[in-house]
Amino acid sequence: MEEQKKYHIATMGCQMNVYDSEVLAGYLESMGLAPVSEEADADILILNTCAVRQKAEEKVLSKLGTWRTLKENSPGMLMVLWGCMVQQEGMAEHIRQRFPHMDLIGGPHVLGRFPDLIEEASMARTTVVSVEEGKREGRNIPIKRGHTLFAWVPISYGCDNYCTYCVVPYVRGPERSRPAAEIYEEVEKLVQDGYLEITLLGQNVNSYGKDLENKVDFADLLSMISRISGLLRIRYMTSHPRDFTEKMVHTVAQEPNICEHFHLPLQSGSNRILSLMNRGYTREYYLELVNTIRKAVPNCSITTDFIVGFPGETEQDFEMTKGMLKRVRFDAAFNFIYSPRRGTAAAIMPDQINSLKKRERIIALNKLQTDISQEINKQLLGTRQELMVEGKSKTDTNYFSGRTRTNKIVHFLADEVSKGSVVTVEIIEAKAWTLRGKSI
Ligand code: SAH
Ligand code: SF4
Repeated sequence: MEEQKKYHIATMGCQMNVYDSEVLAGYLESMGLAPVSEEADADILILNTCAVRQKAEEKVLSKLGTWRTLKENSPGMLMVLWGCMVQQEGMAEHIRQRFPHMDLIGGPHVLGRFPDLIEEASMARTTVVSVEEGKREGRNIPIKRGHTLFAWVPISYGCDNYCTYCVVPYVRGPERSRPAAEIYEEVEKLVQDGYLEITLLGQNVNSYGKDLENKVDFADLLSMISRISGLLRIRYMTSHPRDFTEKMVHTVAQEPNICEHFHLPLQSGSNRILSLMNRGYTREYYLELVNTIRKAVPNCSITTDFIVGFPGETEQDFEMTKGMLKRVRFDAAFNFIYSPRRGTAAAIMPDQINSLKKRERIIALNKLQTDISQEINKQLLGTRQELMVEGKSKTDTNYFSGRTRTNKIVHFLADEVSKGSVVTVEIIEAKAWTLRGKSI
């Protein structure tokens, strides 16, 4: 009998990419391949890339250099570069020329054609490139889910917002919502298969449905899905503050299975910078939204993203960002150094900030946030929290770890807790990024 062929996928970037990799894995397994953890043991080797920041791109290029040796050692290995990075103008051609050992270069739009592309690449003598825009498949794609209890479900693809720093609309195309009935069916099926937690994915979930004939908005979709019995937790990402309506806040407040966690990327605390970023809201509007949320969902957590060093960001602008961080008191903030992306409006704006200054600012912002996160988490000491157990802790295998409804990770000592069970723990130690609990 012929030995079973193996595949290895490395994934960079956002949850949508994690999901896309689950689809790639699904296709490969339906073609008879099995996963393998070492790159060198794979017959098909895939890197699913991100384009949001320059740093990721540099990592990819150096990785492809190391694959040259791999290819020399195993000429039969099929090498695939996938995802957003290759969708950028001129990138696929650049890679094809610089790394001729690559067999297939494909963008996220052609995910539905992956099996055909693999077949084509396995017969071709040169690199097969497919980065044209097209419609993504929605139904009946074989997905190899990474977990047995949590699943990602895309509700829309692409983005129409054109925030001036962001490459996503260029690489993932315009926003396209999946029909609500199709999403509902998928979630219902997942729940029947034992999934307890669903995360609805989109670049801007709050603008869901704008492009659909039959008028359904994100709040309607959330209400529909929350009625699926047996579904314990619903999460969604990412939210755009501008499109987060009161109706949506009230839906989250009303439906017990929608988690009390709001990830609301603010990006900057300065109205001038927000306007240059084309975000479509002001700091006052954002504070109002936070107010509405906290009134309706009192014990919720709120997290955010900030970009420091956007072109033209002055000390005063940065002070405004720090001010918002202190005023809102986020549970966590994911802070990024602004990275100019070719083709975006901000990349050619005047007054680009030097990297030293950017680094200084991110360190200051991270420090401020760590203190706040720590203080907020301290308030959880002695409280009881419902956890969905994800497995053994990565850092200390005596511990299990699980996530609270508010999306905080808690490590706790227990005998044998099966992955995916729901337990209640008491919080006995609180740090900025993790909590420890004891089972009760
Ligand atoms: N659609 C999501 C995800 C976008 S990318 C959203 O709107 O939030 C995730 C985060 O990366 C963004 O929130 C932003 O903070 C950051 N980001 C995007 N482009 C960036 C860039 N050019 N430089 C630095 N950070 C960036
Ligand atoms: Fe990028 Fe803005 Fe769209 Fe998010 S909303 S993907 S930051 S353009």
